[in-house]
Amino acid sequence: MYACQDLIKEPLFKLGSADDDNPQGLVDGSEVVQRLRARRPGENSGCEECNYQMFCQGGCYSTSYYAAAKQFDASLSTRTPHCEFYYSSFSRLFPLLAEEGASMLEYIESSPYTVN
Ligand code: SF4
Repeated sequence: MYACQDLIKEPLFKLGSADDDNPQGLVDGSEVVQRLRARRPGENSGCEECNYQMFCQGGCYSTSYYAAAKQFDASLSTRTPHCEFYYSSFSRLFPLLAEEGASMLEYIESSPYTVN
């Protein structure tokens, strides 16, 4: 078992065997998993003022890990190198969603992470 399917070549993210008597315990007892769970999008360098951070959360973690040259501590606050794609996608998607209901934009604007 690994913390992420994209990181199965990285020993750091190996949690143990799925045949273990308590696989959930392997997950919950992993320091790596605990630190990944503690990541907050507003703490990613470069994401602090992004209106889409609660949806994007800095992008896929595995890309951040490799973007940070496999330095685990640094990777926890590294945004994805695919930021431009994500930002462009969200920028186009949300106005379309707004046509279906203004409540989506109200939700975004009410986010505690939104900078006006
Ligand atoms: S779109 Fe870019 S800046 Fe915004 S949360 Fe995603 S990675 Fe961060």
